[in-house]
Amino acid sequence: MPQALLGMEVSEIQEILGPEQPEYRARQLYEALYHSQATDLIQITTLPGTLRDRLASNHTVGQPTAERRYESSDGTRRYLLLLDDGRTVETVWMPEQTRDTLCVSSQVGCPVDCKFCMTALMGLERNLTAGEIVGQVLYVARDNGLLGEGSRLNIVMMGMGEPLLNLANVVKATRILVDPQGVGLSEKRITLSTAGIVPKIAELGAEPVRPKLAVSLNASTEEMRQELMPITRKYHLKDLLEACRAFPLRPWEKLTFEYVLLKGVNDTDADARRVVKLLANLNCKVNLIALNPGPGIPFETPEPERVQSFQALVRRAMPCFIRKPRGLDIFAACGQLKRNQG
Ligand code: SAH
Repeated sequence: MPQALLGMEVSEIQEILGPEQPEYRARQLYEALYHSQATDLIQITTLPGTLRDRLASNHTVGQPTAERRYESSDGTRRYLLLLDDGRTVETVWMPEQTRDTLCVSSQVGCPVDCKFCMTALMGLERNLTAGEIVGQVLYVARDNGLLGEGSRLNIVMMGMGEPLLNLANVVKATRILVDPQGVGLSEKRITLSTAGIVPKIAELGAEPVRPKLAVSLNASTEEMRQELMPITRKYHLKDLLEACRAFPLRPWEKLTFEYVLLKGVNDTDADARRVVKLLANLNCKVNLIALNPGPGIPFETPEPERVQSFQALVRRAMPCFIRKPRGLDIFAACGQLKRNQG
């Protein structure tokens, strides 16, 4: 099978081209892949024809193709993208007045098993490569004309999968996405969300180029968190908050904590007060997500008044927002990515 170039950095491209090619050739190819977003090697006319033909005999660019695209009444689009090995992965585009947000996947399926999330029902199929993560961005950006001058594109690594269990590929993809010679996005506009894989948080913090960190808190006590998110039996709340406190924030950066509200389970005023206590002294904001329901999920969505009351209590201590559900009608909202045919 031909080898995909997408996901390679300049040094790897240099190796593919061989020592007889000057370094600037590797840079030209790198820029063609990520900056000009070539979809076919034949388009890369900055390279000599002979070199292009030789490359094309055993390599491809490696962008994914769309197997299906689902359109929500709110403008959100959910893509089912086909990968080289026949597996599929989901990516969601959420247009807004002043910006666009792309929600990309880091794994096919997810091993984490949160009780309120539909992706958990798939289990883990495999990690995505850096090229497959960048490929999601390039495909959906091209389909909707999102890159170029004045682009206001935000990337959230909050689709299928647990990004910190695929950290090397997620970080490599981020380097390519923010490199001005690469895709050229702003480092301030890329965020990863984790269920709280504690040892990986310090590893992420040590990376010179990395996404911002969001943490799925989802409960106000250790017991409830372990019930809702079994993986947290291994990664305790106390250690998670310790790792967050030690996380080296950049001057412009805050931590984000996400909190899924489940009716009658973790949505009381007492929960809100405990959240405030847990997060005191952290430079952070909180995003509340009222449960997005789905088949196989044994929880209900709280009433809007309950969500607002929870927000009001948290907001006394720190910024707190309610995440507006996007693409609910096409199974594109948080926790709904499971290749549903909606
Ligand atoms: N594995 C990572 C990335 C997934 S992000 C993580 O756990 O953070 C998805 C976000 O949506 C997480 O904050 C998760 O808690 C939330 N979520 C999952 N299922 C949901 C559902 N059914 N309704 C609303 N939010 C959900």
